[in-house]
Amino acid sequence: MAYNQLKQQLIEYSKEIGIDKIGFTSASPFSELKSRLKEQQDLGYASGFEKGTIEERTEPQKLMQGAESIIAIALAYPTKIPNAPRSKKGERRGMFCRASWGTDYHIVLQEKLQKLADFLEERIANFQYSSMVDTGELSDRAVAERAGIGFSGKNTLLISPELGSYIYLGEMITNIPFTPDQPLSEGCGTCTKCLDACPTGALVEPGRLNAQQCLAFLTQTKGYMPEEHRDKLGNFIYGFETCQVVCPYNYRVDFHHHPEFEPDPDLVKPKLVDLLFISNRDFKKKFGKMAGSWRGKKPLQRNAILALAHYQEKDAIEKLIQLMNEDPRPVIRGTAAWAIGKIGTIEGYQAIEKAMEEENDQEVLIEMKKGLNFRDEKKRGISK
Ligand code: SF4
Repeated sequence: MAYNQLKQQLIEYSKEIGIDKIGFTSASPFSELKSRLKEQQDLGYASGFEKGTIEERTEPQKLMQGAESIIAIALAYPTKIPNAPRSKKGERRGMFCRASWGTDYHIVLQEKLQKLADFLEERIANFQYSSMVDTGELSDRAVAERAGIGFSGKNTLLISPELGSYIYLGEMITNIPFTPDQPLSEGCGTCTKCLDACPTGALVEPGRLNAQQCLAFLTQTKGYMPEEHRDKLGNFIYGFETCQVVCPYNYRVDFHHHPEFEPDPDLVKPKLVDLLFISNRDFKKKFGKMAGSWRGKKPLQRNAILALAHYQEKDAIEKLIQLMNEDPRPVIRGTAAWAIGKIGTIEGYQAIEKAMEEENDQEVLIEMKKGLNFRDEKKRGISK
Protein backbone atom coordinates (compact mmCIF):
# COMPACT_ATOMS: atom_id res chain seq x y z
CA MET A 1 0.00 0.00 0.00
CA ALA A 2 2.76 2.38 0.97
CA TYR A 3 4.52 1.63 -2.29
CA ASN A 4 1.34 2.35 -4.25
CA GLN A 5 1.18 5.76 -2.62
CA LEU A 6 4.82 6.35 -3.41
CA LYS A 7 4.19 5.33 -6.99
CA GLN A 8 1.40 7.91 -7.28
CA GLN A 9 3.59 10.58 -5.74
CA LEU A 10 6.37 9.72 -8.16
CA ILE A 11 3.99 9.90 -11.12
CA GLU A 12 2.90 13.38 -9.99
CA TYR A 13 6.48 14.44 -9.49
CA SER A 14 7.48 13.14 -12.92
CA LYS A 15 4.94 15.52 -14.48
CA GLU A 16 6.35 18.43 -12.48
CA ILE A 17 9.84 17.80 -13.82
CA GLY A 18 8.67 17.50 -17.42
CA ILE A 19 8.57 13.75 -18.04
CA ASP A 20 5.93 13.11 -20.68
CA LYS A 21 5.23 9.49 -19.81
CA ILE A 22 6.23 7.19 -17.01
CA GLY A 23 5.55 3.49 -16.56
CA PHE A 24 6.53 0.70 -14.19
CA THR A 25 7.43 -2.90 -14.78
CA SER A 26 8.97 -5.71 -12.77
CA ALA A 27 12.66 -6.54 -12.94
CA SER A 28 11.94 -10.09 -14.07
CA PRO A 29 13.89 -11.34 -17.10
CA PHE A 30 12.89 -10.36 -20.65
CA SER A 31 12.73 -13.97 -21.76
CA GLU A 32 11.18 -13.46 -25.19
CA LEU A 33 13.73 -10.76 -25.97
CA LYS A 34 16.55 -13.15 -25.13
CA SER A 35 15.72 -15.52 -27.96
CA ARG A 36 15.16 -12.60 -30.37
CA LEU A 37 18.56 -11.10 -29.56
CA LYS A 38 20.20 -14.46 -30.06
CA GLU A 39 18.52 -14.77 -33.46
CA GLN A 40 19.60 -11.23 -34.42
CA GLN A 41 23.16 -12.11 -33.52
CA ASP A 42 23.10 -15.41 -35.42
CA LEU A 43 21.63 -13.75 -38.50
CA GLY A 44 24.26 -10.99 -38.42
CA TYR A 45 21.58 -8.33 -37.97
CA ALA A 46 23.02 -6.70 -34.83
CA SER A 47 24.59 -3.25 -35.09
CA GLY A 48 27.64 -3.95 -32.95
CA PHE A 49 26.88 -0.87 -30.84
CA GLU A 50 25.04 -3.01 -28.26
CA LYS A 51 26.42 -3.10 -24.73
CA GLY A 52 26.80 -6.19 -22.56
CA THR A 53 26.09 -9.89 -23.02
CA ILE A 54 22.65 -11.15 -24.00
CA GLU A 55 22.15 -12.25 -20.38
CA GLU A 56 22.97 -8.78 -19.08
CA ARG A 57 20.70 -7.22 -21.67
CA THR A 58 17.73 -9.33 -20.68
CA GLU A 59 18.17 -10.02 -16.96
CA PRO A 60 17.99 -6.84 -14.85
CA GLN A 61 19.10 -8.77 -11.75
CA LYS A 62 22.43 -9.32 -13.46
CA LEU A 63 22.88 -5.55 -13.58
CA MET A 64 21.76 -4.74 -10.05
CA GLN A 65 21.55 -7.06 -7.11
CA GLY A 66 18.17 -6.86 -5.40
CA ALA A 67 16.45 -5.42 -8.50
CA GLU A 68 12.66 -5.44 -8.05
CA SER A 69 11.24 -3.01 -10.56
CA ILE A 70 12.11 -0.83 -13.53
CA ILE A 71 10.78 2.68 -14.03
CA ALA A 72 10.54 3.67 -17.69
CA ILE A 73 10.31 7.27 -18.88
CA ALA A 74 9.61 8.91 -22.23
CA LEU A 75 10.17 12.46 -23.46
CA ALA A 76 8.77 13.66 -26.76
CA TYR A 77 10.89 15.73 -29.13
CA PRO A 78 10.05 18.17 -31.93
CA THR A 79 9.70 17.19 -35.56
CA LYS A 80 9.66 20.59 -37.24
CA ILE A 81 12.32 23.29 -37.40
CA PRO A 82 10.94 26.77 -37.03
CA ASN A 83 12.44 29.04 -39.74
CA ALA A 84 14.45 26.24 -41.32
CA PRO A 85 17.11 27.57 -43.71
CA ARG A 86 16.66 26.52 -47.32
CA SER A 87 19.15 24.27 -49.02
CA LYS A 88 19.92 26.08 -52.26
CA LYS A 89 22.38 25.77 -55.13
CA GLY A 90 25.81 26.94 -54.08
CA GLU A 91 24.81 26.61 -50.43
CA ARG A 92 23.59 23.05 -50.02
CA ARG A 93 22.71 21.90 -46.54
CA GLY A 94 22.76 18.52 -44.84
CA MET A 95 20.32 17.22 -42.29
CA PHE A 96 20.67 15.73 -38.82
CA CYS A 97 17.78 13.42 -37.98
CA ARG A 98 15.34 14.68 -35.37
CA ALA A 99 16.76 12.49 -32.62
CA SER A 100 19.90 14.61 -32.76
CA TRP A 101 18.27 18.02 -32.41
CA GLY A 102 19.00 20.15 -29.38
CA THR A 103 21.08 18.98 -26.44
CA ASP A 104 22.12 15.33 -26.43
CA TYR A 105 19.11 13.46 -25.05
CA HIS A 106 21.33 11.10 -23.04
CA ILE A 107 22.24 14.05 -20.83
CA VAL A 108 18.69 15.40 -20.56
CA LEU A 109 17.11 12.04 -19.70
CA GLN A 110 19.84 11.12 -17.24
CA GLU A 111 19.12 14.38 -15.42
CA LYS A 112 15.42 13.54 -15.25
CA LEU A 113 16.18 10.03 -13.97
CA GLN A 114 18.52 11.47 -11.37
CA LYS A 115 15.72 13.73 -10.13
CA LEU A 116 13.46 10.70 -9.78
CA ALA A 117 16.22 8.88 -7.92
CA ASP A 118 16.72 11.85 -5.56
CA PHE A 119 12.98 11.93 -4.93
CA LEU A 120 12.96 8.25 -3.96
CA GLU A 121 16.18 8.46 -1.99
CA GLU A 122 14.62 11.08 0.27
CA ARG A 123 11.71 8.76 1.05
CA ILE A 124 13.14 5.24 1.13
CA ALA A 125 15.93 3.96 3.32
CA ASN A 126 18.50 1.82 1.48
CA PHE A 127 17.14 2.86 -1.88
CA GLN A 128 19.22 1.42 -4.71
CA TYR A 129 19.02 2.17 -8.38
CA SER A 130 20.79 1.97 -11.69
CA SER A 131 19.79 4.29 -14.56
CA MET A 132 20.44 4.03 -18.26
CA VAL A 133 19.55 5.84 -21.46
CA ASP A 134 20.14 4.17 -24.81
CA THR A 135 23.74 3.14 -24.17
CA GLY A 136 23.01 0.84 -21.21
CA GLU A 137 22.59 -2.92 -21.37
CA LEU A 138 18.81 -3.02 -21.21
CA SER A 139 16.64 -2.56 -24.27
CA ASP A 140 14.87 0.79 -23.72
CA ARG A 141 12.14 -0.34 -26.07
CA ALA A 142 11.49 -3.68 -24.36
CA VAL A 143 11.36 -2.02 -20.94
CA ALA A 144 9.05 0.78 -22.11
CA GLU A 145 6.79 -1.70 -23.86
CA ARG A 146 6.40 -3.90 -20.80
CA ALA A 147 5.88 -0.79 -18.65
CA GLY A 148 2.93 0.27 -20.81
CA ILE A 149 4.50 3.39 -22.36
CA GLY A 150 3.77 2.23 -25.88
CA PHE A 151 3.86 -0.75 -28.22
CA SER A 152 6.58 -2.08 -30.43
CA GLY A 153 5.90 -1.10 -34.04
CA LYS A 154 6.70 -3.10 -37.14
CA ASN A 155 9.49 -0.54 -37.65
CA THR A 156 11.01 -1.90 -34.39
CA LEU A 157 10.49 1.43 -32.60
CA LEU A 158 8.45 2.11 -29.52
CA ILE A 159 5.23 3.89 -30.45
CA SER A 160 3.17 5.76 -27.92
CA PRO A 161 -0.43 6.12 -29.13
CA GLU A 162 -0.49 9.74 -27.86
CA LEU A 163 3.07 10.84 -28.63
CA GLY A 164 4.02 8.74 -31.66
CA SER A 165 7.56 7.39 -32.00
CA TYR A 166 9.55 10.62 -31.83
CA ILE A 167 10.27 9.97 -28.18
CA TYR A 168 13.39 9.38 -26.13
CA LEU A 169 13.37 6.52 -23.66
CA GLY A 170 15.27 5.83 -20.48
CA GLU A 171 14.89 3.61 -17.45
CA MET A 172 15.91 3.06 -13.87
CA ILE A 173 16.21 -0.30 -12.18
CA THR A 174 15.22 -0.01 -8.51
CA ASN A 175 15.03 -2.22 -5.45
CA ILE A 176 11.45 -1.03 -4.74
CA PRO A 177 8.70 -3.56 -5.54
CA PHE A 178 6.40 -1.13 -7.39
CA THR A 179 3.22 -2.60 -8.83
CA PRO A 180 3.81 -3.11 -12.56
CA ASP A 181 1.71 -1.35 -15.19
CA GLN A 182 0.05 -3.30 -17.98
CA PRO A 183 1.44 -3.40 -21.54
CA LEU A 184 -0.80 -1.78 -24.17
CA SER A 185 -2.93 -3.92 -26.44
CA GLU A 186 -2.66 -1.47 -29.37
CA GLY A 187 -0.53 -2.29 -32.40
CA CYS A 188 0.13 -1.61 -36.09
CA GLY A 189 -2.82 -3.60 -37.42
CA THR A 190 -2.59 -4.23 -41.15
CA CYS A 191 -0.36 -1.21 -41.84
CA THR A 192 2.97 -1.94 -43.55
CA LYS A 193 3.98 1.60 -44.56
CA CYS A 194 7.41 1.50 -42.90
CA LEU A 195 8.32 -1.84 -44.48
CA ASP A 196 7.22 -0.60 -47.89
CA ALA A 197 9.10 2.71 -47.57
CA CYS A 198 12.45 1.49 -46.21
CA PRO A 199 14.86 2.18 -49.11
CA THR A 200 17.29 -0.60 -48.27
CA GLY A 201 14.92 -3.34 -47.15
CA ALA A 202 16.49 -3.21 -43.69
CA LEU A 203 13.12 -4.08 -42.17
CA VAL A 204 13.37 -7.67 -43.26
CA GLU A 205 10.01 -8.58 -41.74
CA PRO A 206 7.58 -6.87 -39.37
CA GLY A 207 9.47 -6.07 -36.18
CA ARG A 208 12.84 -7.31 -37.41
CA LEU A 209 15.63 -4.96 -38.44
CA ASN A 210 18.89 -5.84 -40.10
CA ALA A 211 20.94 -3.02 -38.57
CA GLN A 212 23.72 -3.64 -41.10
CA GLN A 213 21.38 -2.46 -43.87
CA CYS A 214 19.76 0.36 -41.90
CA LEU A 215 20.76 3.79 -43.19
CA ALA A 216 20.43 5.31 -39.72
CA PHE A 217 23.10 2.89 -38.52
CA LEU A 218 25.24 3.26 -41.63
CA THR A 219 25.46 7.05 -41.22
CA GLN A 220 27.33 6.34 -37.99
CA THR A 221 29.98 3.99 -39.35
CA LYS A 222 33.50 5.17 -40.04
CA GLY A 223 34.44 3.17 -43.11
CA TYR A 224 33.12 3.53 -46.65
CA MET A 225 29.37 3.75 -47.13
CA PRO A 226 28.34 0.66 -49.16
CA GLU A 227 28.08 1.88 -52.73
CA GLU A 228 24.56 0.57 -53.28
CA HIS A 229 23.31 2.82 -50.44
CA ARG A 230 25.16 6.04 -51.27
CA ASP A 231 22.36 7.40 -53.42
CA LYS A 232 19.68 6.63 -50.87
CA LEU A 233 20.74 8.93 -48.08
CA GLY A 234 19.60 12.14 -49.76
CA ASN A 235 20.97 14.97 -47.65
CA PHE A 236 20.98 13.07 -44.33
CA ILE A 237 24.36 13.30 -42.67
CA TYR A 238 23.32 11.71 -39.37
CA GLY A 239 20.52 9.22 -38.85
CA PHE A 240 17.67 8.39 -41.18
CA GLU A 241 14.00 8.23 -40.33
CA THR A 242 11.79 7.32 -43.26
CA CYS A 243 10.27 4.50 -41.22
CA GLN A 244 9.08 7.13 -38.75
CA VAL A 245 8.06 9.80 -41.25
CA VAL A 246 5.59 7.47 -42.98
CA CYS A 247 4.12 6.08 -39.76
CA PRO A 248 0.48 7.11 -39.25
CA TYR A 249 1.11 7.41 -35.52
CA ASN A 250 3.42 10.32 -36.32
CA TYR A 251 1.07 12.27 -38.56
CA ARG A 252 1.01 15.90 -37.42
CA VAL A 253 3.05 15.03 -34.33
CA ASP A 254 5.32 17.91 -33.30
CA PHE A 255 5.91 18.31 -29.58
CA HIS A 256 7.85 21.25 -28.23
CA HIS A 257 7.66 20.35 -24.55
CA HIS A 258 11.36 20.64 -23.77
CA PRO A 259 13.46 23.71 -24.52
CA GLU A 260 16.57 21.47 -24.46
CA PHE A 261 15.42 19.67 -27.61
CA GLU A 262 14.65 22.77 -29.66
CA PRO A 263 16.73 22.64 -32.85
CA ASP A 264 19.18 25.36 -33.77
CA PRO A 265 18.27 25.61 -37.49
CA ASP A 266 21.80 26.34 -38.61
CA LEU A 267 23.22 23.40 -36.66
CA VAL A 268 20.73 20.72 -37.59
CA LYS A 269 20.80 21.81 -41.25
CA PRO A 270 24.46 22.78 -41.60
CA LYS A 271 26.06 23.98 -44.82
CA LEU A 272 27.73 20.92 -46.28
CA VAL A 273 30.86 22.58 -47.61
CA ASP A 274 31.54 24.20 -44.23
CA LEU A 275 31.65 20.74 -42.65
CA LEU A 276 34.32 19.44 -45.00
CA PHE A 277 37.24 21.32 -43.52
CA ILE A 278 36.08 21.96 -39.98
CA SER A 279 38.82 21.62 -37.34
CA ASN A 280 38.41 19.23 -34.40
CA ARG A 281 38.22 22.17 -32.08
CA ASP A 282 35.50 23.99 -34.04
CA PHE A 283 33.59 20.74 -34.52
CA LYS A 284 33.53 20.11 -30.79
CA LYS A 285 32.55 23.67 -30.06
CA LYS A 286 29.77 23.72 -32.62
CA PHE A 287 28.37 20.19 -32.63
CA GLY A 288 29.74 18.69 -29.40
CA LYS A 289 26.45 18.95 -27.50
CA MET A 290 24.47 17.11 -30.15
CA ALA A 291 23.82 13.38 -29.93
CA GLY A 292 24.88 13.15 -33.58
CA SER A 293 28.47 14.08 -32.79
CA TRP A 294 29.18 10.98 -30.73
CA ARG A 295 31.23 9.27 -33.45
CA GLY A 296 33.29 12.38 -34.17
CA LYS A 297 33.41 14.39 -37.37
CA LYS A 298 34.59 11.76 -39.85
CA PRO A 299 31.29 9.93 -40.53
CA LEU A 300 29.50 13.28 -40.84
CA GLN A 301 32.09 14.56 -43.29
CA ARG A 302 31.87 11.37 -45.34
CA ASN A 303 28.09 11.75 -45.42
CA ALA A 304 28.37 15.45 -46.27
CA ILE A 305 30.43 14.48 -49.34
CA LEU A 306 27.75 11.97 -50.35
CA ALA A 307 25.07 14.63 -49.87
CA LEU A 308 26.96 16.98 -52.20
CA ALA A 309 27.06 14.16 -54.76
CA HIS A 310 23.33 13.65 -54.24
CA TYR A 311 22.76 17.33 -55.05
CA GLN A 312 25.14 17.12 -58.04
CA GLU A 313 26.67 20.25 -56.54
CA LYS A 314 29.12 21.48 -59.17
CA ASP A 315 30.00 24.52 -57.05
CA ALA A 316 31.60 22.16 -54.55
CA ILE A 317 33.91 20.42 -57.03
CA GLU A 318 36.91 22.56 -56.19
CA LYS A 319 36.57 21.78 -52.47
CA LEU A 320 36.08 18.09 -53.14
CA ILE A 321 39.22 18.01 -55.29
CA GLN A 322 41.11 19.65 -52.46
CA LEU A 323 39.83 16.95 -50.07
CA MET A 324 40.75 14.16 -52.50
CA ASN A 325 44.26 15.54 -52.86
CA GLU A 326 45.00 16.63 -49.32
CA ASP A 327 42.91 14.87 -46.68
CA PRO A 328 45.02 12.41 -44.65
CA ARG A 329 42.05 10.03 -44.15
CA PRO A 330 41.69 7.47 -46.97
CA VAL A 331 37.90 7.12 -46.53
CA ILE A 332 37.48 10.85 -47.03
CA ARG A 333 39.80 10.95 -50.06
CA GLY A 334 38.10 7.95 -51.63
CA THR A 335 34.57 9.17 -50.97
CA ALA A 336 35.49 12.58 -52.37
CA ALA A 337 36.82 10.91 -55.53
CA TRP A 338 33.60 8.93 -55.93
CA ALA A 339 31.53 12.09 -55.42
CA ILE A 340 33.60 14.08 -57.92
CA GLY A 341 32.96 11.40 -60.53
CA LYS A 342 29.27 11.27 -59.65
CA ILE A 343 28.89 15.04 -60.04
CA GLY A 344 30.64 14.62 -63.37
CA THR A 345 32.58 17.65 -64.57
CA ILE A 346 35.52 17.54 -66.99
CA GLU A 347 37.63 19.35 -64.41
CA GLY A 348 36.68 16.70 -61.84
CA TYR A 349 37.55 13.73 -64.05
CA GLN A 350 40.91 15.27 -64.92
CA ALA A 351 41.61 15.82 -61.22
CA ILE A 352 40.85 12.18 -60.44
CA GLU A 353 43.22 10.98 -63.19
CA LYS A 354 45.94 13.23 -61.86
CA ALA A 355 45.36 12.17 -58.24
CA MET A 356 45.57 8.49 -59.22
CA GLU A 357 49.22 9.00 -60.18
CA GLU A 358 50.05 9.97 -56.59
CA GLU A 359 47.62 7.79 -54.61
CA ASN A 360 49.00 4.71 -52.85
CA ASP A 361 45.99 3.47 -50.91
CA GLN A 362 44.38 0.58 -52.78
CA GLU A 363 40.86 1.27 -51.54
CA VAL A 364 41.10 4.93 -52.47
CA LEU A 365 42.30 3.91 -55.93
CA ILE A 366 39.24 1.66 -56.29
CA GLU A 367 36.99 4.61 -55.41
CA MET A 368 38.85 6.77 -57.93
CA LYS A 369 38.22 4.17 -60.62
CA LYS A 370 34.56 4.13 -59.67
CA GLY A 371 34.58 7.91 -60.01
CA LEU A 372 35.96 7.63 -63.53
CA ASN A 373 33.45 4.89 -64.35
CA PHE A 374 30.71 7.50 -64.17
CA ARG A 375 32.36 9.25 -67.13
CA ASP A 376 32.61 6.01 -69.06
CA GLU A 377 28.99 5.18 -68.33
CA LYS A 378 27.98 8.64 -69.44
CA LYS A 379 29.88 8.15 -72.70
CA ARG A 380 28.12 4.83 -73.24
CA GLY A 381 24.78 6.44 -72.41
CA ILE A 382 24.28 4.52 -69.16
CA SER A 383 23.32 6.71 -66.27
CA LYS A 384 22.75 5.50 -62.75
FE1 SF4 B 1 3.34 0.14 -37.61
FE2 SF4 B 1 2.53 1.30 -39.91
FE3 SF4 B 1 3.92 2.71 -38.12
FE4 SF4 B 1 5.13 0.74 -39.50
S1 SF4 B 1 4.29 2.62 -40.35
S2 SF4 B 1 5.33 1.15 -37.33
S3 SF4 B 1 3.47 -0.75 -39.68
S4 SF4 B 1 1.88 1.81 -37.84
